[in-house]
Amino acid sequence: MVASRRSFIRTGAGVIAASILGFDVRPAYAQAKELKIARTTETRSTCPYCSVSCGVIIHTLGDKAKNVTAQVVHVEGDPDHPINRGTLCPKGSSLMQDIMNERRLLKPQVRRPGSDKWEDIGWDQAYDEIARHIKKTRDEGFIETDAQGRKVNRCESIAWNGGCTDTNEFNYLVVKTMRSLGLCYVENQARV
Ligand code: SF4
Repeated sequence: MVASRRSFIRTGAGVIAASILGFDVRPAYAQAKELKIARTTETRSTCPYCSVSCGVIIHTLGDKAKNVTAQVVHVEGDPDHPINRGTLCPKGSSLMQDIMNERRLLKPQVRRPGSDKWEDIGWDQAYDEIARHIKKTRDEGFIETDAQGRKVNRCESIAWNGGCTDTNEFNYLVVKTMRSLGLCYVENQARV
């Protein structure tokens, strides 16, 4: 492995070696680390990758003007989060690449029956189509009574699966809505 002078200084070994030679690079090192997030806005969030649901802090730069899109400059584990206490696995540590990614989907997409392509559709169209599919599927599979003639009013032909970034409030509304449709199969990836 070939280490450049710059990468050597960045390492802890470089800091110790420089100290032995009489240079104390720690203030500069600490300042460089601090500068990266000195002017950022901290937003607490949850890693979306797995059911552990580690807490993260997302650092963004931007003056919050309406015509400015905040830029994510750093993502780190949340030291105050009870699940991960500031740690992140390699997937969570690469979260910034998930947020700042030119391949990220920004519009709803649909793949029609028989098609081999996904097509972009508008949000209104997506809402309409989802509502229509839910109504049709529920109407076709709704069970009013069980084999013994007891009233059950359940819908076994639709299932709901939530994600670990869904908030408590969102999950509350999901359960109310799905149960009102008669759904039995309501699950959440995070199990929290
Ligand atoms: S940081 Fe790793 S362990 Fe934590 S939620 Fe994300 S993927 Fe799961």
